Amino acid sequence: KGDIPVAEAALSPERGGPKNLPIAKVLVDDEDCESMLEQKHKPKLVILGTGWGSVAMLKELNPGDYHVTVVSPDNYFLFTPMLPSATVGTLELRSLVEPVRRIVNRLRGHFLRAEAVDIEFSHKLVEVCQVDANGEKQSFYLPYDKLVVGVGSTTNPHGVKGLENCNFLKTIEDARLIKNKVLRNLELACLPTTSDEERRRLLSFVISGGGPTGVEFAAELYDMLNEDLLNSFPRLLRNEVSVHVIQSRGHILNTYDEALSVYAEKRFEHDQVEVLTNARVKEVQPDKILFSQMEDGKPVTKELPMGFCLWSTGVAQTELSQKLAKKLGDFQNNKHALETDTHLRLLGTPLGDVYAIGDCSTVQNNIADHLTTFVRGMAYEQGKDPDKLHITFQDWRNVAQKVRKRFPQAAGHLKRLDKLFQEYDKDQSGTLDFGELHELLVQIDNKLTSLPATAQRANQQGQYLGRKFNKIAAAIPGFRANEVDFGDLDEAVYKAFEYRHMGSLAYIGNAAVFDFGGLNFSGGLMAVYLWRSIYFAQSVSIRTRILLAMDWSKRALFGRDLMSF
Ligand code: FAD
Repeated sequence: KGDIPVAEAALSPERGGPKNLPIAKVLVDDEDCESMLEQKHKPKLVILGTGWGSVAMLKELNPGDYHVTVVSPDNYFLFTPMLPSATVGTLELRSLVEPVRRIVNRLRGHFLRAEAVDIEFSHKLVEVCQVDANGEKQSFYLPYDKLVVGVGSTTNPHGVKGLENCNFLKTIEDARLIKNKVLRNLELACLPTTSDEERRRLLSFVISGGGPTGVEFAAELYDMLNEDLLNSFPRLLRNEVSVHVIQSRGHILNTYDEALSVYAEKRFEHDQVEVLTNARVKEVQPDKILFSQMEDGKPVTKELPMGFCLWSTGVAQTELSQKLAKKLGDFQNNKHALETDTHLRLLGTPLGDVYAIGDCSTVQNNIADHLTTFVRGMAYEQGKDPDKLHITFQDWRNVAQKVRKRFPQAAGHLKRLDKLFQEYDKDQSGTLDFGELHELLVQIDNKLTSLPATAQRANQQGQYLGRKFNKIAAAIPGFRANEVDFGDLDEAVYKAFEYRHMGSLAYIGNAAVFDFGGLNFSGGLMAVYLWRSIYFAQSVSIRTRILLAMDWSKRALFGRDLMSF
């Protein structure tokens, strides 16, 4: 029989949990399969999601230490940074995905293509739901000893009406739908029955959101229109096609260094991509978009006819995350993500049981508390009452140094600390009192707890957790399920998680910008090759690297595939 189990999961006759659902027995007993028998006694590690965080963790774990089960509606890992390139045929969809089963198989683990809908923390059960061949929903419980929640995020609707008239860009299916819609509009625009006005509407492409995703999509679309339109649609006039980016802030790419935002805006202006800043979308109708923009200090409502609208205005919590946050009540105070401690343990759950990583989570650093303690210590050293302590600018610099040392992710914000000191020094005495300082620290704390929702962070958190789980397994001889009280083993075996910002990059249409925290770089073709090589190197496997190289060569030789299926 070898090492291959007969079936991956079976429902045991046992039922339980608050909803009295069947309990899944994921590892089927197979007396002939030694590795399975051995793994049967290992702690049950359940991982939810197959995105950046979960996959980074799976790749880091040592085989055999845990009895791993992965639950996700996607049986692939999606390399999201390149997704905008797949919306216009620059890259093939299959080049951006890696089958998850291959990654799980390395750990002799199990993959269930299903969705987690709830977690019963006190029973250590995940409620899983899947749709069977007859289209009926089936639910069961999956028991865990350790659980990792890596379910990502969803698109933020910002309460705007008419989003059913928009496309989104988060999944592989989204990219396929965008490509089809763009091509459908180009084809419709060529029909003799289409009026001039209708043609201009069909060829008006609007991107709502000037963050990296919106900007990269606009750039890819612009490239396709310039490089392939003439060959594939010679009857369409380029000047009848328009691309507009609507951005609520003063600049596009507003989380990047301002010089890079300005460079990207100039580049777009040169490429005739219209950037509408300080503009807020109010409603999306099937054929036009309504937005308000400030003019002479007053908001003015405007209309833009459109044939396509991409909605990419940031992320929000998934249904599961919202449900969990509500369940954990006062332990969870962040409206945007599940809060964890610095060891990535979900706040409000028994220590060492449940972790959350990636976009669905945020780390509570308690920088304010930490630094307040430090300042109190400083006051006592000087024999002063901390509440009456006045902190000079030099003291403040020392505090800032502490922030930098203890929380490297604060580096970007530290540049602003001196300015903040002056802002808080309302009477301009050159000192802050303790209350003012605390207010300032809380403000910094709030900023730092909301680390960016990026692949970079999810990847680092997944790797961190994988390494820590390996250390936990190594710390206990004969590591077996039900014999381990995980307690605060985390702190005994490994340091707290620290985010290291490696920089941000964005493709802006035959040019690219790089923000390496003070070391910025922007440019044309050379920058594009650098941008490509960074992602090429980060790409998951040799298989995806070969496919990417083939796509780029194919496009250079034959242009993009402008077909919709
Ligand atoms: P995800 O990668 O979103 O994965 C979540 C997983 O959970 C998915 O497999 C999903 O199917 C699964 N899931 C969802 N609900 C459930 C459930 N109930 N039960 C079980 N499984 C569930 N970041 C960068 O750093 N650089 C970039 O250049 C960049 N470009 C991007 C471009 C685009 C178009 C997009 C959409 C994102 C980009 N990002 C980029 C952001 C990055 O992709 C995310 O931050 C990252 O994917 C977050 O990883 P994650 O593991 O938290 O979630």
